[in-house]
Amino acid sequence: MTSSKGMLVVVSGPAGVGKGTLCRALFAQWSGLEYSVSVTTRKPRPGETEGKEYYFRTPEEFFKMIEKNEFLEWAEFCGNYYGTPKFHVEKILQENKTILLEIDIQGAKQVKKQYPEGVFIFIVPPSYEALAERLRGRGTEPEDVIRQRLDKAIQELKNISDYDYVIENDEIQTAVEKLKSIIIAEQCSVKRKSLFFKEGP
Ligand code: 5GP
Repeated sequence: MTSSKGMLVVVSGPAGVGKGTLCRALFAQWSGLEYSVSVTTRKPRPGETEGKEYYFRTPEEFFKMIEKNEFLEWAEFCGNYYGTPKFHVEKILQENKTILLEIDIQGAKQVKKQYPEGVFIFIVPPSYEALAERLRGRGTEPEDVIRQRLDKAIQELKNISDYDYVIENDEIQTAVEKLKSIIIAEQCSVKRKSLFFKEGP
């Protein structure tokens, strides 16, 4: 017989590769895991709601949370702050469930130091052009911010060797299936199980 241990999954990669879309599509199709809602100082985009995509906070509130050591990790990204609240992650892991964090590369590095046994998945764009098109197509950021995000993305692609898996986000449904398959395979991995066999009669 076996019993599971909690599992932490980090989905990371340059901004604009569609990590958010990919994770949302996964959660819409599968309830096999929990999502870690981040805190951010960025303003909500149209359609985003408090507590669903993010907890939206002022910089002052965010810095207070840092002082109180409430983040598992946090990072500054293009002028805004983003952080993963520690409490929820720890609770889910204690319940032996799987939790997914969709965070940037700096944050993923911090998480890896604390949870080296986590599953680290890197999302890459099919091409530079596709990434540029995605960032522009969003239509929510001015051109200088888009340029800044593109430059950063090129630098960030060099971090791939720190990860366990890579998924090219070309066709969304294919990418969702790959992500789900990786998580299921890891949930079944012997190294993540406590094995206890009863002696014979
Ligand atoms: P966006 O502003 O487009 O929602 O997110 C910008 C970047 O911040 C994305 O790369 C996203 O993955 C990352 N991000 C979102 N939440 C967190 C978090 O809690 N911590 C870190 N380090 N990055 C985050």
